[in-house]
Amino acid sequence: MQRRQLLGAGAAALVTLPSIHHAQQNSFAAPRTLAPVRASADRLIDMTVCLRPFRAQGPRIESERRYGKTIVHHYGHGGSGWSLSWGSAQLALPLIQATGARQIAVIGCGAIGLTTARVAQQHGLRVRIYCKERPPEVASTFATGTWSPDSRICTEEHATPAFSQRWETMARHSFRTYQSLLGLADNPVEWRDGYVLSDTPFDQPLEGDDDGEPDYPDLQERLADMRPRSVPLRPGEHPFKVPHVRRFTQMNFNIAAYQRLLVNDFLRAGGEFVQRTFEHPRQFSDLRERTIVNCTGYGARALLGDHSIIPVRGQIARLVPQAEVDYAIMYRGHNLFMLSRRDSLLVQAQGVHDFGNDDTRVDRALSVAAVERLAALFA
Ligand SMILES: Cc1cc2nc3c(=O)[nH]c(=O)nc-3n(C[C@H](O)[C@H](O)[C@H](O)COP(=O)(O)OP(=O)(O)OC[C@H]3O[C@@H](n4cnc5c(N)ncnc54)[C@H](O)[C@@H]3O)c2cc1C
Repeated sequence: MQRRQLLGAGAAALVTLPSIHHAQQNSFAAPRTLAPVRASADRLIDMTVCLRPFRAQGPRIESERRYGKTIVHHYGHGGSGWSLSWGSAQLALPLIQATGARQIAVIGCGAIGLTTARVAQQHGLRVRIYCKERPPEVASTFATGTWSPDSRICTEEHATPAFSQRWETMARHSFRTYQSLLGLADNPVEWRDGYVLSDTPFDQPLEGDDDGEPDYPDLQERLADMRPRSVPLRPGEHPFKVPHVRRFTQMNFNIAAYQRLLVNDFLRAGGEFVQRTFEHPRQFSDLRERTIVNCTGYGARALLGDHSIIPVRGQIARLVPQAEVDYAIMYRGHNLFMLSRRDSLLVQAQGVHDFGNDDTRVDRALSVAAVERLAALFA
């Protein structure tokens, strides 16, 4: 069970998955010099907030007949939307194909809408995307961009064996698809190292972390065979002045480049965009397509009056990019996560009450304090 989602980055898996011990280390564990992060508040170039569309029971992937249309609902991916998108679209596909339609409408152009549209195109369907916002305005743009397939995906009580198996199918399919997107221009997807730092031994639980979040299942244990093992480092093998350090290797998404790739691929395959805001699902009856895939993310809460979607606020700050900083840092118990992306050094800290919080105003002090904690690591 993961009590705290440590910045929504699937961090628990990094410290709980099987690791290599010192005696087993090979030459790949050799120390390497890490370029220091130039962490100071004056280097902040952007601060954003977006809401994770969390559902205790997991994503809604089901179809219904309404307003003379078949509506395939595909939303509610919590903190895992980017990670699970391809596999989730694969689960939505049979519901779409069952209608027999050759031309479909997808409502929404975030991580879920774009990948659903691409998967439908790959299976020979013509797709028109209707949406209020397109990238980079969609909420998905403001995600961290790391492989976190079980981050706030459901509550522990809903992680039945059937759900867990379905989740694993989604995660494995997505993972495989992402490996086919490596090595492309602009690095939409890449693997990089990261360091988990801790003042206390990793097997010692952290205290005082009741942040109002429910209990989440440790689903990533089911994928233990799919990620490189983390490696404990001795003092001298890393530059950090903390007693416990472990190096991990993680798949990341450079969201700006990746979104552009998805949009371009969609257009090249004959896709069309229509800018449109739906106030009520009965407006779906105006559309010329008879099969409609609803990928409106958090927007589905207002559009359908679906209060099973709970907002989980997430704020990220971006520092001026440093190409020489090619690693991530997670400081356990210090509410700090730094991810090196091509467009910035992303700094993330969790707010005091993010769960159930739909306040999208930026809390500058939260990010500045996180940047100061990061700076202290390099002082
Ligand atoms: C801070 C933060 C960090 C995250 N980090 C990660 C991460 O590292 N890895 C990961 O896998 N996931 C991460 N997530 C989760 C991920 O971002 C979401 O699960 C994902 O963005 C959801 O995508 P979506 O397409 O469902 O929604 P959205 O991106 O919100 O897209 C919804 C689309 O529907 C449209 N729409 C909505 N309502 C209407 C309407 N009424 N009419 C017309 N159009 C409408 C919108 O305009 C938009 O085009 C993070 C989330 C947050 C908040």
